[in-house]
Formats: sequence, C-alpha cells, structure tokens
Amino acid sequence: SFTIGVLALQGAFFEHLEFLKSIVQSPEYSAHTFQFVQVKTGEQLATCDSLVIPGGESTSISLIAERTFLLEPLLAFVRDPCKSVWGTCAGLIFLAQHLKNGKKEQKVLGGLNIEVTRNAFGRQLDSFEQVLDFSSFVPGLTDFPAVFIRAPVVSRIGVVDLAEEGLISSSNPILDEPVEVLHKLHRNGHELVVAVRQGNHLGTSFHPELSSDLRFHKWFLDEFVLKSAS
Ligand code: GLN
Repeated sequence: SFTIGVLALQGAFFEHLEFLKSIVQSPEYSAHTFQFVQVKTGEQLATCDSLVIPGGESTSISLIAERTFLLEPLLAFVRDPCKSVWGTCAGLIFLAQHLKNGKKEQKVLGGLNIEVTRNAFGRQLDSFEQVLDFSSFVPGLTDFPAVFIRAPVVSRIGVVDLAEEGLISSSNPILDEPVEVLHKLHRNGHELVVAVRQGNHLGTSFHPELSSDLRFHKWFLDEFVLKSAS
C-alpha cells in the first residue's frame, strides 16, 4: 500500500491529485492499493511515502509552511532516503538548496543540491507551452506538451560544499547521490535545465498537471513512488 501526499498549502495541488488518482484506476495497478492525501499538517505528512510539491507561488508556499509549523516536518521528509519527492515549478524552487531571485524571507528545503533561478524566462515569455522529447529518460515519451508559467530553471548543480557548510553531521543522505540533468530546453542559443533528478527526488520547471497528458505522472508513479517505497 502506498500513500501519496500532495502539499496543499497553495497552488495547483488539486490537479496533481486528480492525475494520480486517475492513473491508478488502470488494471496495471490493481495489485497495489493507494491512498491520496492533501497535506496541510505534519500528521498528514507523516502518513506519506511520497510527496508532490505543486506549482503556485514559492514564497507563499514557504511562508504558509512556516506559519503552520510544517517546515520542520518537510525538512525531515526530504532527508528521509525512503521517501520520494517531486517538485513542479514553485515546488522545484521550494525543493532547491539555493535560489537566485529568491525573496529574502523565502525558505527552501534543500532536497535537491541545485541552485534554481526564479522567473527565469522574463516577461515576454511569462508563460508558454512547448512539446518536448523526454524519451531519453521516459521510455517512448517523445512528445510531451510541457506548460511553463513564470517558470524557474536550474542554474547550478552541486552548489553546496557539505563540509564547508557544516552539513556533514546533519547531512541529507539524498544529497550524496549525484544530480542528473534529465532535460535541457534549447532557447535562443541557450540550454536551460528544466528537469533534474537526485536519488528519489525529482524537480521539473514545468507543470505536467496542467496539460491533459497523464504520461509524466505515470512515470513518476512507476519510477519514484513504486520503486522507492519497496
Ligand atoms: N514564479 C513562481 C514562483 O516563484 C513559480 C510559478 C509557478 O509555479 N508556476 O514561485
């Protein structure tokens, strides 16, 4: 039995839940049972094997998490090597280790050893949809309609010197795994990293829950939820 939580403080949490619920209706998953939780409290988080952090507004998500005493439980969750975590857009920002263009009061969870630049596409490209080929990591997924809304990009990888930051003793075991770049977007001669993985943690700049295509969520379920909990 697997319990999948979606952080439900702000943003597009409902859509993630609907996608995941509809995927597990398939006979392919009939051997497993799934519970789905809208996570607003530490008690709810404690029941989860896996957590999705949705898009929305990362400053608000972090402020609400602080105000509702969810920050500490979230920090512990992303340090537990048995748990899988996926952050989309604002969720990717919240999951990062360092931010560029972050607000001063904004907190991050440090579950991906990366620097993320907020609002990286500028005004003209506030939001756009682009069909991307993810088949190098998701078998057969050559044509995924990726939705970007005031999206962040991964601007540096492996930015923390664990020893220097005094993090060796309180180290996050997840961060010992290498960061894998899953996808680079080509735009105006630049390569922008929009999907990364570090162990059981996944981060994407785009919002798969806002297209009407379930295939990316299905991959998360197969590759992260089912694999990490077993
Ligand atoms: N720009 C938003 C932020 O910084 C993220 C946008 C999104 O999640 N679509 O939080």
